[in-house]
Amino acid sequence: MTPRIEIDAVTKYFGDRLVLDGVSLSVAAHEVVCLIGASGSGKSTLLRCINRLVEFDHGAIRLDGVPIDDKRFGATGLQRRIGIVFQSYNLFPHMRVIDNVTLAPRKVHGVPRAEAEDRARQLLGLFGMGDHATSYPEQLSGGQQQRVAIVRSLVSKPDVLLLDEVTAALDPELIGEVLQIIRGLKDEGMTMVIVTHEMGFARDCADRVCFLEGGRILEQGPPRTLLSRPENPRTRRFLQRII
Ligand code: ADP
Ligand code: MG
Repeated sequence: MTPRIEIDAVTKYFGDRLVLDGVSLSVAAHEVVCLIGASGSGKSTLLRCINRLVEFDHGAIRLDGVPIDDKRFGATGLQRRIGIVFQSYNLFPHMRVIDNVTLAPRKVHGVPRAEAEDRARQLLGLFGMGDHATSYPEQLSGGQQQRVAIVRSLVSKPDVLLLDEVTAALDPELIGEVLQIIRGLKDEGMTMVIVTHEMGFARDCADRVCFLEGGRILEQGPPRTLLSRPENPRTRRFLQRII
């Protein structure tokens, strides 16, 4: 079967600095892949290449077999099909929650307001945010804001969700509620590529874990194998440092 996402020998330079060094990775539909590795290893850059927030230099990335720079995705089609959520939730402070989450679907993807708001309210309800549709971001906790940011990425019905350290800015007691939502998305079959430092979460949510160092995937495997019995001494050293 065609992988949902296929990354084929992708190379990326920032200036003369090699940041991705021939990365290949296939992600099947409904698969959850976690990327782990030290700061600077290229995790965010790889994620951003997948939905073209960053352009790479060599190699190819395909979505359902189609190169991501293919004209058929148009200017915004790829971003609708591949959602991304960041560590900093990037909500507009002057906009109510409902307007934050329906802005892109309405203005960029042409979804009618009523339809976008229906779906937004449904998702907000599902994520325990039903009472906050008319709140402003500053009235919400960090965990609630991050849940809103996840809803925002889901309103456009993406096929793939990219999550870049989405719990890293949260107080410890708020991390669990966001991870719970991601587990729920997995249960519903969402295809996800997740950068995380939460090894417990990677262990029970990922189908596969990839360890990056110096812009390469040094080792990958099922979480139980990679996190408990890594073969590469560098993976072992990384895990010993952070656990
Ligand atoms: P990670 O997410 O694993 O911490 P990044 O992908 O953010 O790693 O960064 C990989 C390398 O690329 C780092 O050395 C970083 O400094 C560099 N880098 C990232 N983004 C840029 C950028 N926009 N311009 C120049 N260098 C960058
Ligand atoms: Mg990063």
